[in-house]
Amino acid sequence: MRVYKFGGSSVQDVERIKNVVSILDSVDEPIVVVVSAMGKTTNAIEQVIELAFAQKEDSAKEAWKTICQNHIDLSKDLDCEDHCHAHLEKYHSQGQSILDTYSRKDRDELYDQLISLGELMSSTILTGSMILADLKAVRVDAREMIKTDAQFRSANINWGATEDAVKEVINTVGDGVQYVVTQGFIGREPKGRTTTLGREGSDYTAAIISYCMDGESMSVWKDVPGVLTADPRLFPNATLLPRLSYRVAIEMTYYGAQVIHPKTIQPIQRKEIPLFVKSFLDPNSKGTEISKVGAALYPPMIVVTKDQYLLEF
Ligand code: ADP
Ligand code: ASP
Ligand code: MG
Repeated sequence: MRVYKFGGSSVQDVERIKNVVSILDSVDEPIVVVVSAMGKTTNAIEQVIELAFAQKEDSAKEAWKTICQNHIDLSKDLDCEDHCHAHLEKYHSQGQSILDTYSRKDRDELYDQLISLGELMSSTILTGSMILADLKAVRVDAREMIKTDAQFRSANINWGATEDAVKEVINTVGDGVQYVVTQGFIGREPKGRTTTLGREGSDYTAAIISYCMDGESMSVWKDVPGVLTADPRLFPNATLLPRLSYRVAIEMTYYGAQVIHPKTIQPIQRKEIPLFVKSFLDPNSKGTEISKVGAALYPPMIVVTKDQYLLEF
């Protein structure tokens, strides 16, 4: 079994979602698909939360409605509205009720209850599009698998419980299912409340599932050809690193290379699962392979971290 993770930009609009479906269609083996919220949805939901806590309830609800309507419109444009409508309406009204109770909730707790709906909506639409294309896909709720403590917004994994739950859920999806689609970023604490793993945490979810299932490999599909010597948005001449060792990848992400979430590498390193960073814009290109071996020699790499201070004691 392999794990594929698709980030927000890979599913930001109709064309990109169709592109993801065609990448998945070209695979013959069982895949667990981990998906983030679409495009900039998470930022948009953060703004709804800001409005709620600024006591602008009406604006918050209006902004929430717009986000939900955009998802409904997208499902219509993809012709998978029949599959998605009831789910998307349910998430819309769940969001409305969460906003009704915001003043009685801890801010971080409310944040996780609302922000998680972005991933729940995107996974609904991706699964709907896959089923429409005759892919044998089923969606499972990541909260049934990813068990955490109650540290909202940066929850810690309960590895024992998560490993049992991931195996139980994925191994019992039923015969004939090739693709198990689930959400990145979200989990559940012991009392049943939704938690999240920290911004950009979907890469980490994919690594957790890869670890628990002893995955053959994990691939993260990005808008870049792989891991480059620097962020191409800042350094357009950056070049591809075809191979990286886990150690070098951990170092890069630790110092702030934003291409992979920093917590991602460790779980897959422990089981020596290769991690491929691939381009969803050019799926046949090789990308970067991160494994135990890495390269013999590395070119200079640049990581830019803004507004950082070094305090020495
Ligand atoms: P996702 O869609 O999975 O959330 P991100 O947008 O978080 O993906 O990560 C991809 C982005 O990371 C690229 O668009 C690129 O601008 C940035 N990036 C930063 N450092 C690097 C690097 N060294 N190599 C490649 N991309 C990098
Ligand atoms: N949607 C979440 C975020 O934007 C998680 C992720 O994309 O990995 O932070
Ligand atoms: Mg991202």
